[in-house]
Amino acid sequence: MDVARILDTLDQMFPDAHCELNHRNAYELCVAVVLSAQTTDVSVNKATPALFEKYPTVKDLACANQEDVEQCIKKIGLYRSKAKNIIGLAQYAVEHFDGEIPDTMEQLIQLPGVGRKSANVVLSVCFGVPAFAVDTHVERISKRPGFARRNDSVWDVERKLMKKIPKSRWNDMHHKFIFFGRYFCKAKNPSCKDCPLVDICKEKDKKI
Ligand code: SF4
Repeated sequence: MDVARILDTLDQMFPDAHCELNHRNAYELCVAVVLSAQTTDVSVNKATPALFEKYPTVKDLACANQEDVEQCIKKIGLYRSKAKNIIGLAQYAVEHFDGEIPDTMEQLIQLPGVGRKSANVVLSVCFGVPAFAVDTHVERISKRPGFARRNDSVWDVERKLMKKIPKSRWNDMHHKFIFFGRYFCKAKNPSCKDCPLVDICKEKDKKI
């Protein structure tokens, strides 16, 4: 496959791709990423200003009452379990990392609600560590033009992307893959007739 061509195409289509979860620091992004599971960044961004005004630091959230946190995020899906996770995340960070969000994969995935994908987002966006977070968009986009196979696991996809894409491009390409999947190659009704990658795509014109 012509990796350079795909990267060039995404560069041209989405030169300003970026993290769309609003945040001011690693604490806020880590919480926002946990809240974003199975919901949109837009709905998370509506809830987090009030949440972070009430709990501006990890230590504030660690001391929070769960019902009060639920009130702040109740318009987000799975808000009860997410409230429990973000309080637990904050408590764990206070107990084990002196109230800081850690900057290694090994430590991040110890936080309640933080899996490998979420940890990769925090590592790459907040700490500049080369990483390729594979969410639902990245997984789908990777399989359509052929970075990965249809039956590959999320971990398979991450490994293949890291092997085929230069390390220096992992962090920005993660965002461009997401923009391509969110705004162009959507899960249903992708814009195949206008797609510059249509000649190499394995799934063109499929209604998935
Ligand atoms: S041809 Fe269609 S399915 Fe394939 S990458 Fe382009 S928009 Fe996505």
